[in-house]
Amino acid sequence: MQIGFIGLGNMGAPMAINLVKAGHSVKAFDLSAEAVAKVVAEGGQAASSAQDAVQGAEAIVTMLPASQHVEGLFLGQGGQGGLLENISKGALIIDSSTIAAATSQKVAQAAEAAGVGFIDAPVSGGTGGAIAGTLTFMVGGSDSDLERARPLLEKMGANIFHAGSVGAGQTAKICNNMLLGILMIGTSEAIALGAANGLDPAVLSEIMRRSSGGNWALEKYNPYPGVHEHAPASKGYAGGFGTDLMLKDLGLAQENALAVKASTPLGGLARALYAAHSLGGHGGEDFSSVIKLLQKQG
Ligand code: NAD
Repeated sequence: MQIGFIGLGNMGAPMAINLVKAGHSVKAFDLSAEAVAKVVAEGGQAASSAQDAVQGAEAIVTMLPASQHVEGLFLGQGGQGGLLENISKGALIIDSSTIAAATSQKVAQAAEAAGVGFIDAPVSGGTGGAIAGTLTFMVGGSDSDLERARPLLEKMGANIFHAGSVGAGQTAKICNNMLLGILMIGTSEAIALGAANGLDPAVLSEIMRRSSGGNWALEKYNPYPGVHEHAPASKGYAGGFGTDLMLKDLGLAQENALAVKASTPLGGLARALYAAHSLGGHGGEDFSSVIKLLQKQG
């Protein structure tokens, strides 16, 4: 299949590479030439612009930071035309960015008017899952669009859930990330308490992993340096899932909670703690660096 792939950051590059490895023709674009080079090195083609990436594509995959990037790209801004004008009728957009459900719906509506299909397909599984092709996709859209996307999603992920109509994938995603944001703080708090009492963080983590406190961070993404060799914590909190991206997701969860009058007190507190951590200069570090807020420094 001819695929246009836009947004080749920590997640997008390995996802695009998995499509290339599966034999698809991938034309890749990112504002960073360095990011494009990673995909080209694995057999992808470099697009000179987003317009070039989507020209003649049967499917367009986007993996961009936030709502404004997705809306700006497809619908345009400041009088500039959006990318929808350049996409062939009958093509399908698969947006895997985590953005507001309302933005997904707005872009899907415009896409439908242009004769282009759209699904929101945000992911979970981190950069490790993106590299291994084991992501979980949470899809919002029609049955038929999901079936068209499925062969591509299967090359990038291991679990595909149909959450409902357009926007439902995003709603599932912010529920999951609100839980992830809270549990990373809880896990960090427990490890910091043990370490302050002289416990070995690795031993304590293993005890909790096999006890009733066991969770995903203790399994795969320990916030304490050196416990998991491949976790961002062991690489100076580089790569992974940025604090500012977690902050964005917790903001989306709070906006949504306000709209539906849901009570999400821990989600609100988690958002405030990641905001303080970001203000402390850690916005670009992996979100597990939030443990620094809870540890004695120096
Ligand atoms: P990232 O910041 O590493 O990458 C985003 C990329 O988009 C960058 O390379 C940037 O140059 C590019 N970009 C921005 N605007 C662009 C434009 N107009 N045209 C072309 N390229 C553009 O972010 P990431 O960690 O890859 O996350 C991407 C999305 O996936 C976010 O919505 C995030 O919330 C979500 N997500 C991330 C993770 C994770 O573990 N990193 C996990 C699940 C979901």
